[in-house]
Amino acid sequence: MPSSGKKKSPEPTVTEQQTHTPNVDAGEIAKFNALAEQWWDPNSQFRPLHDINPLRLNYIDERVSLPSKKVIDIGCGGGLLSEGMARRGAEVTGIDMGEAPLAVARIHAEHAGVAVEYLQIPAEQIAEQRAGQYDVVTCLEMLEHVPDPSSVIRACATLVKPGGQVFFSTINRNPKAFMFAIVGAEYVLRLLPRGTHEYAKLIKPSELAGWARDAGLDVQDTAGMVYNPLTQVYKLNRDVSVNYLMHARKGD
Ligand code: SAH
Repeated sequence: MPSSGKKKSPEPTVTEQQTHTPNVDAGEIAKFNALAEQWWDPNSQFRPLHDINPLRLNYIDERVSLPSKKVIDIGCGGGLLSEGMARRGAEVTGIDMGEAPLAVARIHAEHAGVAVEYLQIPAEQIAEQRAGQYDVVTCLEMLEHVPDPSSVIRACATLVKPGGQVFFSTINRNPKAFMFAIVGAEYVLRLLPRGTHEYAKLIKPSELAGWARDAGLDVQDTAGMVYNPLTQVYKLNRDVSVNYLMHARKGD
């Protein structure tokens, strides 16, 4: 994180927000900014996100019934999930700190004729402005890029209505996850650019569940997203040893 010797101006610009917001890693945002143009190309380095998108959309839709639900997608990137949920009838807001992915998301939604509100704002800040306004909060493949994931999880819990649903996904931290998600995906199969994921920032399901509970969320389900490199197919199952999704609910 860059040091900030300057005084905060009363109305920070977007660039100053990025620099001064403590829970944003500018290096991580830069990585995604640099690649953003390829976001909707299913044969690009975003292929894994394209491949898992139908699985996670179905997982979420089965649990919340997306039509007419008010949803906020935290760390939405180029909008694969946000736009997918909007196409299924949800009223979606997507937030991210990357300017380029948001620009790509906006253009894609406009061309597709799908209404999505995209905003460049930190999760903690929108949580102050829109507490308790959402039926569903999604935060997928983002927590492992943030300095303090527990703070984002608290923001998600603040944004959701009592009785509402929250979904997280990330990568487990263990030797197998290191071999598959970093060595396999970044160095052997080259599905992702080298340096996409840092081992120390990966998150165990027990840690995620603990932070969710501390934020007032009850974990309902945890599902594994498993990739078979031979068939090149992802499936949802009970094996959470590498990629996984978590569904939590806020108490009434
Ligand atoms: N959730 C999307 C994109 C995942 S890629 C999907 O699963 O399809 C990770 C995204 O998190 C990138 O777009 C990156 O810009 C964003 N990100 C990383 N740190 C962030 C932060 N502190 N606040 C908001 N977004 C962040």
